[in-house]
Amino acid sequence: MVSKRLQAIPASGTIAISNLVSQMKSEGVDVVSFSMGEPDFTTPGNVIDAACESLRSGNTHYTPSLGIPALRRAVAETTRDRNGVPCDASNVLITPCKQAIFMIALAYIDPGDEVILADPSWVSYEACIRLAGGVPVYVPTRFEDNFVLDPALVEAAITPRTKMIILNTPSNPTGAVIPSDVLRQIADIAMSRGIKVMSDEIYESIIYEGRHTSIASFPGMFDNTIIVSGVSKSHAMTGWRLGWAIAPEEDIKAINKLQSHSISCAVSFVQDATVEAITGPQDARDAMVREFRKRRDLAMDLISEIPGFECNIPQGAFYIFPKYNRDIPSAKLAEVLLREGHVAVTPGTAFGPGGEGFFRVSYATSEDMIVEGISRIKKVMGQL
Ligand code: GLU
Repeated sequence: MVSKRLQAIPASGTIAISNLVSQMKSEGVDVVSFSMGEPDFTTPGNVIDAACESLRSGNTHYTPSLGIPALRRAVAETTRDRNGVPCDASNVLITPCKQAIFMIALAYIDPGDEVILADPSWVSYEACIRLAGGVPVYVPTRFEDNFVLDPALVEAAITPRTKMIILNTPSNPTGAVIPSDVLRQIADIAMSRGIKVMSDEIYESIIYEGRHTSIASFPGMFDNTIIVSGVSKSHAMTGWRLGWAIAPEEDIKAINKLQSHSISCAVSFVQDATVEAITGPQDARDAMVREFRKRRDLAMDLISEIPGFECNIPQGAFYIFPKYNRDIPSAKLAEVLLREGHVAVTPGTAFGPGGEGFFRVSYATSEDMIVEGISRIKKVMGQL
C-alpha cells in the first residue's frame, strides 16, 4: 500500500493527457495535441553546441549541489538586470523548476499549514502542498477580470495558519499577467503579515503586452520571496530539465539540503549549455515569442468563432483558457474531444475547482495544427 500522502493526490493531469496522446500516436492515431505546455521548436543550435562541447571536454561528473558558479552568476545577473531583483550568485540554486517547487513545499510547509493560490492554477502546486501535509486555499479569479488575482481576496483568505502565497505570472493555464500595481499590493500584504511568496516566473520571457514584473523587485520584498524560473519554456529546453530558485541565502541553503538528499545536483553539461542559453544571443528566443504571439491571435480568432465559446485575452505564456456554454463537465468534454475528434486539450478542472466550464489549449504548436485542431473541436461541439 502506498503512503497516505501519495493517496491524497492524483497523478499530474497535464502529464497524464500527454502520456495518453503519445500512446495513441504510437498506435497510429492522428491526434492533434493542444495538451502539453511545451514549445514545438528545437533548442537553439548554439545551446546544443555548448552542451556537446561540454560533454566532449569531459564535464560528465557531479557539480556542486548549488550549481556551477558560472551559471549561478549568470542567472543572478540576468534576473537583476532584466527584472530589478536585488540578487547575486549566492542567492541562486540550480535545479529543475518542478524539483524546485517540490523542494520548496517540503522545506516550508508543515502539516496543517495553509497555502494561498489562484484558482485556476497549474496542476502540481496543489499536489506539492498536499504531499507536504499542507492545505491549499484557492482564491477564485474571474474570466471577467482576465483571471488576475484580486489582492482583497488574497488578504481575506489569510488565517493564522497561512504559510505561503503562490503566484504564477504569466499564468499557466490562463495566460494572465498580474499587473505591477496588483503585485505591489500583494507584496505589501505578504510583508505586513510575514508570509512567504513563491513566485513562479517560468513564463517571464513569453509576454505579449507590457513587461514582466517580479514581485521580488519591490523594496524589501526580496527577503520574503522565493522565485522559481528556468529555460524550459523560454529557450525550448523542456527535455533538458533545468531551472533555478532565487531567494535569500538562508532559504537557498535550506532548499539545498533537500537537493543534496535527492538529485545531488543538476545535470553537469546542461548547466554549461544553460550559461550559453542565457548569456548568448537571444534572437531565437525572441523569434519564438513573436511566433507564439501570431499563433495566439490565430487560435483566439478561431476559437471565438465556435458558437458558445468565449476567450479571455492571454497576455503571456502559450495557453488559451476558453469558456464553453455546454452542460458537460470539463473532464468529460476533454475525453469526448480526444475520443471523437482526436484532439487533446487539458480539462479546466485539472487546474482547480474554478476550472469547471473551461479547458486549456496549449498553442505552442504549428499554425497548421492550430487550424486543424480547432476545426476538429468545432466539429465535435457541433455534434454535442
Ligand atoms: N508545465 C507544462 C504544462 O502545464 C508541462 C507539464 C507539467 O509540468 O505539468 O503542460
